[in-house]
Amino acid sequence: MQSLQKRTWAEVSLANIAHNYNAIRERLPEGCRFLAVVKTNAYGHGAKRVAELCENLGADYLAATGIDDAVQMRSWGIKAPILIFGYTQPEYIDVLIRKRITQTVDCLETAREYSSIASKMGHKLRVHLKVDTGMGRLGFICHGDRDCRQEILETLNMPGLDIEGIFTHLAVSDEQDDDYTKMQLDAFNALVKNLEEESGFRFKIKHCANSGAVINYRQTASLDMVRPGLMLYGLYPGRCKGDIELRPAMELKTRVACVKELSPGDCVSYGCTFVADKKAKTAVLPIGYGDGLHRALSGKIDVLVNGKRAHQIGRICMDFCMIDVTDIPCSVGDVVTVFGRDGNEFIPVEELAEKAGTISYEITCALTERVPRVHIGSPDRV
Ligand SMILES: *Cc1c(COP(=O)(O)O)cnc(C)c1O
Repeated sequence: MQSLQKRTWAEVSLANIAHNYNAIRERLPEGCRFLAVVKTNAYGHGAKRVAELCENLGADYLAATGIDDAVQMRSWGIKAPILIFGYTQPEYIDVLIRKRITQTVDCLETAREYSSIASKMGHKLRVHLKVDTGMGRLGFICHGDRDCRQEILETLNMPGLDIEGIFTHLAVSDEQDDDYTKMQLDAFNALVKNLEEESGFRFKIKHCANSGAVINYRQTASLDMVRPGLMLYGLYPGRCKGDIELRPAMELKTRVACVKELSPGDCVSYGCTFVADKKAKTAVLPIGYGDGLHRALSGKIDVLVNGKRAHQIGRICMDFCMIDVTDIPCSVGDVVTVFGRDGNEFIPVEELAEKAGTISYEITCALTERVPRVHIGSPDRV
């Protein structure tokens, strides 16, 4: 593990992810399934360890971005059902069937293609139908004056599809008591009721709750499954924290590479945007936008050095950035926390997100491959 902590690394607490998983699980009514969203390398937290952990904790389903990460999960020995949120080219349907991977179907045309290929193979492809109730992304459109009932009724009769579930995605569930969300939920519930009445078919798994809905619209857990992502990693999707206590799982750390004195007039980094106005001391950190620390954050963030906040100065480079340590004792090799805790000080991911004009999701997802994920606490010990 030491060898992974020589330059810049992300420490990921599996114990905290387990805590978050259990805190969410506790709120779910008996029988409600838990789909753990581990797409996008588990929001940057390392999909292998997170998927293994969630499976051990009893997650009923895992979600992948596309066929590549779904197949990768199978290669790690993940046995739980896996749902692909994205589109898969019909020529890979045989892989999905062989690997027992569930595919999202978002329109009639795709449903026809998938069904015809699966039937020719003498198999059925397991699918969940996705309905667009206002997100304006993937899905059979059931919104405004568009009604996809007939299209879905036709899909229900396709011989090559094993239709296990139906779901929708909420656009503003991070806000409490929001009319748009209520409209989406009503549209989804009405559609499902209608389809079931008209066809006699029963969807085994109906679902719509992302993290925002798990926190702000608890009634969504009365469906058959919830699909939280961000919450698992201990982060809140919006301002409202509800009554659930989550623990951030990731801390981003690096080590002082060099400490130097500045004289008045000395400049720091590209463009000389920072010029010392007095004698000062800087530390060079081996982290930059090549690691996922956005250049747009240049001059805006603080980091923690030996329990104290130090301001980042000058432009963030590809592999380095500089901080002002004039009043902070520090030496080469000291651990620096970009976000996370050091002693009594804590820098939340949200602080960086706000300064970058984005959301916490993007900060953890942005960490690049060369940043080792160091997982603390093993699945069998948490
Ligand atoms: C990413 C995603 C989720 C999880 O969203 P969070 O806000 O991270 O909880 C759920 N459902 C779908 C369809 C998604 O794409």
